[in-house]
Amino acid sequence: TMEVLLGKVVLITGASSGIGEKLAYEYAQKGARLALVARREKKLQEVADKARELGSLDVITVCADVSKSNDCKRFVEETVNHFGRLDHLVNNAGIVSAFYFEEYTDIANTLPVMDVNFWGSVYTTQFALPHLKKSKGKIVAIASPSGWLYGPGMSIYAASKAALVNFYDTLRVELGSSVKITIASPGFTESEMSQGKHLTTEGVVEVDREKLDALIGNFPVKSAKGCAKNIVKAVCRGDRNITDPSFFRI
Ligand code: NDP
Repeated sequence: TMEVLLGKVVLITGASSGIGEKLAYEYAQKGARLALVARREKKLQEVADKARELGSLDVITVCADVSKSNDCKRFVEETVNHFGRLDHLVNNAGIVSAFYFEEYTDIANTLPVMDVNFWGSVYTTQFALPHLKKSKGKIVAIASPSGWLYGPGMSIYAASKAALVNFYDTLRVELGSSVKITIASPGFTESEMSQGKHLTTEGVVEVDREKLDALIGNFPVKSAKGCAKNIVKAVCRGDRNITDPSFFRI
């Protein structure tokens, strides 16, 4: 049976661009109430305005860095204080560092990848879980084919996503039917990340097109809107996994 989202309270991390932004619109169109989290305030406000236009009954925004445990505690609290409940937690915030392993000079510079992609989701899950159990809610984890398959240039990113997949697979068994978990592994999708926003030793920079094309290869880059639509549908059906078939045909 398909879950009805009207009035449901959905918290989305990384909602200021890309897949997270489009997930906000998809939930908004179905009448969900939204808590949108990311670091960039102006972008979040724009997404919130559009989500209201599309039909969300109530939207709040919280500026926060998911790699900081205290920030995660704060945005979960603000969400539950405002709405009185939490139905879906969408752990989408993520960053990429796409280099061949031998290109790294100081591997410590890649620590933010694990901090955001893995620990950010773990912190958020811990604080949200009591509320999700109360509502018999759902967790949506945005992983990646990199969490399951090799992809040259993705070593650190792949490790962070594999950690995420295994964390949620374990949690699913521990929680039984009290909270459902959907792990989404979309293929290459239009976003700031796939357009070349990468973490390097100098912080987040744009990676040149040629290098990016070499990494992406012949895989199609799909629309973030379509990606979000598929994910929300899978979540409403209660699917455990949703993957991009062009990656998982092997
Ligand atoms: P974007 O770069 O467009 O979006 C990333 C989002 O995460 C932004 O809203 C960003 O907002 C937020 N974010 C990053 N760091 C933090 C942080 N420390 N605290 C809070 N928010 C943060 O990329 P995508 O939309 O592509 O990425 C979304 C998810 O999808 C990621 O987990 C990514 O790994 C995954 N994915 C992407 C694929 C693709 O091809 N694009 C394929 C498979 C998975 P802000 O900067 O404002 O904080």
